[in-house]
Amino acid sequence: MKYSLGIDLGTTYSVMAVVDESGKPVVLPNKEGQNTTPSVVYFGGQEPVVGEEAKDYQSMGSENVAAFFKRSMGEKYYRQEFNGKTYDTIELSSLVLKKLKSDAELQLGQVITDAVITVPAYFNNSQREATIKAGERAGLHVLRIINEPTAAAISYGMRDGQSKNVMVYDLGGGTFDVTVAAIKEESIDVLATDGDHNLGGKDWDDCLTMHVSERFREDYGLDPMDDDEAFNSILVSCEKAKKTLSARGATTVRVACGGKSGTYELTQALFEDLTSHLIERTWKLSEHALEQAGLKWQDLAEIILVGGSTRMPMIAKYIEKSTGKKPKTGHNVDEVVALGAAIQASIEAAHKEKKRPVFSLGPARKIHDVMSHSLGMVAKNTDATRFINSKIIAKNKPIPATEKKPFKIQTSPSGGNALEIYILQGESERPLDCTILGKYVVSNITHVPKGQAVIEVSYSYDQNGVVKVMAHERSTGGQLPITIEELTDDLSWTDAAPPASEVVYQQMSVLIAIDLSGSMSGRPLREAQKAAVRFVEDMNLEHTSVGLIGFADDSLVTLDLSQSDKDLAREIDRFRTLFDRGKVGYGNWGEPFTDANKLLSGIEGPRFLIVLTDGVWDRPKESIDAAHRCHKAGIEVIAVGFGEANRHFLKEIETADENALNTDITQLVSSFSKIAQVLTESGLSYKKQQKLQFFN
Ligand code: AMP
Repeated sequence: MKYSLGIDLGTTYSVMAVVDESGKPVVLPNKEGQNTTPSVVYFGGQEPVVGEEAKDYQSMGSENVAAFFKRSMGEKYYRQEFNGKTYDTIELSSLVLKKLKSDAELQLGQVITDAVITVPAYFNNSQREATIKAGERAGLHVLRIINEPTAAAISYGMRDGQSKNVMVYDLGGGTFDVTVAAIKEESIDVLATDGDHNLGGKDWDDCLTMHVSERFREDYGLDPMDDDEAFNSILVSCEKAKKTLSARGATTVRVACGGKSGTYELTQALFEDLTSHLIERTWKLSEHALEQAGLKWQDLAEIILVGGSTRMPMIAKYIEKSTGKKPKTGHNVDEVVALGAAIQASIEAAHKEKKRPVFSLGPARKIHDVMSHSLGMVAKNTDATRFINSKIIAKNKPIPATEKKPFKIQTSPSGGNALEIYILQGESERPLDCTILGKYVVSNITHVPKGQAVIEVSYSYDQNGVVKVMAHERSTGGQLPITIEELTDDLSWTDAAPPASEVVYQQMSVLIAIDLSGSMSGRPLREAQKAAVRFVEDMNLEHTSVGLIGFADDSLVTLDLSQSDKDLAREIDRFRTLFDRGKVGYGNWGEPFTDANKLLSGIEGPRFLIVLTDGVWDRPKESIDAAHRCHKAGIEVIAVGFGEANRHFLKEIETADENALNTDITQLVSSFSKIAQVLTESGLSYKKQQKLQFFN
């Protein structure tokens, strides 16, 4: 049997596991026989040493020790020097992974290449990429990166065949993650995740440290916080005291500073009192995640505790008091994550080899995860007065996820045409409060002599939560090269007002009216729907509202002005049902202008009505009169005809000669795309009414 490794690469220690021959996930002990391996590296000898021995050197105060480097994962400038050689976090993490790989090989008697590695749910793109690189540098093929709480849910879901909603409350040494997941027979769907990567066991230690230091200062007038050595020693004693308080009601801490010493008693009750604000912070985040998941406390079957700090009895006590539910603590909080990773590794490996994974404990479920950061880019706000983080993929959206945005740029004939996009991760509207992933430069853009080049940029989170950006030229469909440039420039300009430019984006309103008379049956309607979908895709819905009208004997507004691509897609799709059910009849008595006039009256900004028709109308005069009332009201009418449509009639209903097009069914989609392009360009500089040319 070929094994694949599940690895929990932790800040303080790491754990590895495999699914054994009987189909059971089991933790693999390291060479020293321990289930956990300290994520500590000692550089004092010939070769770097990882694990318990390195930790011993660390406790002895050796300077040749690297620890806690996971906290700096993905940081570009983090370097440590040992014996004249510099190490970044990728290299340090790869040393830990190498040790795990080689210990696993010793145990299992085979070469191990495939692995699933877990990361905290809050890890951003650079941190995830760095983790994958560390795995590769250790000689591992990283099948997948999964979020630690998701791994815990997988491991938990495995033990229990039932469908249920669970919350994973993961409080580690320095971080807090909370995840709400639906465990189903076929899949584990993560519904929402939240957290704070500056909240963990360390904050509980700090509270105790502050408290005893304060008591010492009251007794002796000396502040141990001013003395590094004394302070560090109190920190270490307080972490120990904290752990003792997990087993006993009281303990003592001895403080020595400036030749004086004092011993202070700490009770469980005092500890809880000193740190209640910290639990409350985790609780606010938990409530938020639950709300984001669209659930209530009573919808949760279990609250699963993960992470060393959930050993503090106050955590389970608080949760039970707040929810009336006893949280799940019967498992080893240090091992569940690695076990979940092993299960996932076995599923991924089987999938790779097109085999069925063997589990003795339950079915192989698909994992649907989410990302805890929104993906966005630096853009101008609607009235171009500020730079903002314009979100592209919202947080808690299932991954993999892809969103496309078209960019229109003026090109130069001399070449060198490029598009620069600053990609961000984070929730704040202010770009500088987000993580800036880099300046993505799209180059080789072909010059468009009159007009603008349209670049389709697609932004994705892959299944590992890693960001991928691709760009295509709309006109040729060709893929454009993208380079990610180092962020050497100062981005403080994003805090200043954008330079005053000619470009003022105006909010536009566009109605699309589609002919639903009998002759539209079959392909014509399908093409019309495709054209409408394409139009919506091509418009920037941040600046444009689109509404929909269907007409035949009657006219029906099927969607009022909307900026939601989802609502628009759904309603365009519904034209089919509308047609099949004959909701507006099948004749040619109706006209959409009266409805359009009503809908667009009193709305600021440029307003447009696009009429798509394939035939002759039964009351041309009335229709033309109604169209003229639209023109008078300042609504620009664009008429697109095909099939039996009459060019002369089209010219009567549109606003200017150039706004009428008699085309054929195969050109509908590209005609609508062209209209979208002209409208978008006009919106960019639409200061006053101007003459637009849609067709030539
Ligand atoms: P983790 O990041 O999951 O390894 O969690 C490590 C954190 O758990 C550290 O802050 C430890 O001090 C804390 N921890 C470990 N064991 C206990 C315990 N018995 N009681 C309280 N905290 C603990």
